[in-house]
Amino acid sequence: MQQFVKAKTILTKYKQADAWFHIKYAMNLYRGCQHQCIYCDSRSECYRIANFEDILIKENAIELLRSELRKLKEKDTIGTGSMNDPYMPIEQEVQLTRRALEVIEEFRFPVHVITKSDLVVRDYELLKRISRAFATVSVTITTADDALSAILEPGAPVSSLRFEAVRKLSEGGVRAGILLMPVLPFVNDTEENIRQMVEKAREAKAAYVLPAFGMTLRDKQRAYYFDTLAQWDASVLAKYEKYYHGQYSFQSPAHNKLSALFSKLCNFYGIKMEIPAYEKVGDGQISLF
Ligand code: SF4
Repeated sequence: MQQFVKAKTILTKYKQADAWFHIKYAMNLYRGCQHQCIYCDSRSECYRIANFEDILIKENAIELLRSELRKLKEKDTIGTGSMNDPYMPIEQEVQLTRRALEVIEEFRFPVHVITKSDLVVRDYELLKRISRAFATVSVTITTADDALSAILEPGAPVSSLRFEAVRKLSEGGVRAGILLMPVLPFVNDTEENIRQMVEKAREAKAAYVLPAFGMTLRDKQRAYYFDTLAQWDASVLAKYEKYYHGQYSFQSPAHNKLSALFSKLCNFYGIKMEIPAYEKVGDGQISLF
């Protein structure tokens, strides 16, 4: 089901920009996500989304964004993509993300786009212009194997298309990197996957790769994930039954080994392992890179 709704606000301001993604203002133009990743945390009860397959489209998002940006005194990074993906299929037609980026360009705010879709390449000219202030695009890719990505992230383009998006953005002058997260215990936490991911990131000219060797597992999120694992491969679910003991986050048992391999490969290829941050000048003027 898709439904147009009126939102009250469009930007959520954090007290402090977070340390990993450097996002100060979270912008959610949609609610619900067509990508339907089997591990998605947005199914957790705390988010109170009755049906995660329903897509709410915030029809007044662009007017709200314009009026909220006009009032903001502090220029800092606007982030996209929590509890929805800004480039899920419906964006092709509705173009809320594109129109929001046009407003962000107009107000010269920095932006960090996070997506699992190659549709982001459509807006590459716009992102290039926003880069004069600051822009970075993080494409989430969890596995180098297209067949596995179609199981883990059934509504998103397969991994090879996402690597291609990173390459096109990078070669076109838009900074683009990869979020290698989550690395799911007993699923994509293999040395082979980490090695291939870093090598493909290098081929795609990714500016950075940021990994997370584990996942969260919370109430409805966990129930959905375990149900899907049971249908996909009961032997994988059996490992969770043996090693997972109900905690909020669950690291890959291979975490140390994979983390060391990842760092070694990134150092060898000269790939950064963190996302660059927008640097404020003086009282929040735009910095030029
Ligand atoms: S793209 Fe993000 S928000 Fe959408 S289903 Fe996947 S993890 Fe959830």
